[in-house]
Amino acid sequence: MTTEQYAIPGLKNVLYIDLTSRSYYIKDRRDLYEKYLGGVGVATNLMLEEYIEGTGPLDPEMPIILSTGPLSGVYPTCTKTVALFRSPHNGELGESYAGGRLAMSMRYSGYETIVIKGASQYPVYVAIHDDKVIFRDASSIWHLSSAIDVGKVLRDVEPGAGRRSIIRIGPAGEKGITYASVNVDTYRHFGRLGLGTVFGAKKLKALLIVGNQEIKSPDHNAYRKTYSKLYDTIVKTGLTEKYHNLGTSENILVLNELKGLPTRNLQGTSFEGAETISGELFAEKYLIRRVSCAGCPIGCVHVAMLRRPFSKAHEYETLNISYDYELIYALGSNLGVADPEAVLELIDACEKAGVDIISMGGVLAWATEMQQRGKISTVETMGLQFSWGDKAAYLRAIDLVVQGPNDFYAALGKGVGYASKKYGGEEFAVQLGGLEIPGYHTGLGNMLGLTVGFRHSHLDNAGYAADQAAFNRPLSDEKIVEAIIEEEDRRSVLNCMVACLFARNVYTYPNIIEALKSLGIEKTEEELKELGRDIFRKKYELKKKFGFKFEELTMPKRFFETTSTTGKLEEDRVKRAIELYRKKRGV
Ligand code: SF4
Repeated sequence: MTTEQYAIPGLKNVLYIDLTSRSYYIKDRRDLYEKYLGGVGVATNLMLEEYIEGTGPLDPEMPIILSTGPLSGVYPTCTKTVALFRSPHNGELGESYAGGRLAMSMRYSGYETIVIKGASQYPVYVAIHDDKVIFRDASSIWHLSSAIDVGKVLRDVEPGAGRRSIIRIGPAGEKGITYASVNVDTYRHFGRLGLGTVFGAKKLKALLIVGNQEIKSPDHNAYRKTYSKLYDTIVKTGLTEKYHNLGTSENILVLNELKGLPTRNLQGTSFEGAETISGELFAEKYLIRRVSCAGCPIGCVHVAMLRRPFSKAHEYETLNISYDYELIYALGSNLGVADPEAVLELIDACEKAGVDIISMGGVLAWATEMQQRGKISTVETMGLQFSWGDKAAYLRAIDLVVQGPNDFYAALGKGVGYASKKYGGEEFAVQLGGLEIPGYHTGLGNMLGLTVGFRHSHLDNAGYAADQAAFNRPLSDEKIVEAIIEEEDRRSVLNCMVACLFARNVYTYPNIIEALKSLGIEKTEEELKELGRDIFRKKYELKKKFGFKFEELTMPKRFFETTSTTGKLEEDRVKRAIELYRKKRGV
């Protein structure tokens, strides 16, 4: 049974999918788009509308909201889709971004935002072909051992190549690992905070979207002019060159030199094996190509080729594996792995499982230190003896975490915060706000940014960038707090456009205003800035509804034991900075 309020979807409509009744309807929410433009602004307001007090992250009533922005599919690098949900990993606001073709396909199908509610009784995948929404039985792909294979199967059975996006979960999402990811097309992901777990709880194996509509600009000449200007800024000014050249993995040597690269469960911040897992080495020995999200001229996705034997009779398989800074940190320096091929194999195992690699790396690093300190034994690890750099043990452990055959691995499947409450070792469980940290230990800005961020992600406010500035010239703690606040608001505006943050310096306020104008949307710089502040307030309202309290934040001792880029941190100093942030923010 389907219910349609509008037979032909047009732009600025929201598609609601109910998995329980396998039905859908469309609403015109121009009111939200006019005020919040799109992306995270619209998604946050829809979440506030839809959230039923007391609903848990995996309850059927808890929605998943996927949202694009006014520039999606229209302007270069506006390639991202934001997913909003309640995180099963830390219970807080789940907010995740992915590129690939999803934003383009959503936009060309006419659905700027999709709200998914309910839960199916049996595995399903949803195929959206323009104005048709079809619920298909996914039992035959539910138990596939690789999220990559799920994509291959759906590519064969569903038409629409070129304008089609396929997002799906792997075994980790089916098994309820709280940091399961959603694989998006090829090499892109909704990585952090467990969107894949929410898919799994809804028995939603995949979502496929094909869009064939055109997007028309009211003033084609103005559009062409602005497009050319933005395109040229991206490709000719050097602003984004780093991302194409070595990609973010360039940061391995940089952070290592600055003593900001978390190593061996953040027992150190420089790694003696940094050279052999550097972006430079991967490029020289393994890089075979770069790929791009649809509509991006940068091409930051670096793909390595790994040839490995699978029988003694000299038979080999060739794997194509994408890598970047965070992945190399999480499964390289943080696990003491200096062998680049081992890093690639570990990445591949996580990619197939469909799991957040940063969290998995954090979990394995904590387990290694636990065993080395004698807090757990081979009884808990089922015979595994973890030691830094041991690829074979880590590959086996990834599988065990996903399968959860005993209490210990089941606890690891819920993250270091949960596992350390049960087994001890909270003082070196390297998480903030319940989320295993990304690859930075640069100082106050980073730690404050991760602690106060909406979802405890470095992408909320780039606190590490404030530390970089402080490294070059002295910066008071107050200035660091102000830099974080300013960046949070700016990023909220960019996230309404759902622009790739690698192009954040291209999409300045004047450029956003010009791009919007060419599409018939008039905004001033002050209006955009107020939009950023408004989204902050709304997101904090949501966070508080989900149970967030500043008073309950904990900061493991490890952060204060290990020297950062800008020196050793003191807990009191971080606490004072948090209070200053709260005062300035009024939260
Ligand atoms: S820079 Fe990379 S992540 Fe960003 S849009 Fe381009 S290819 Fe995608």
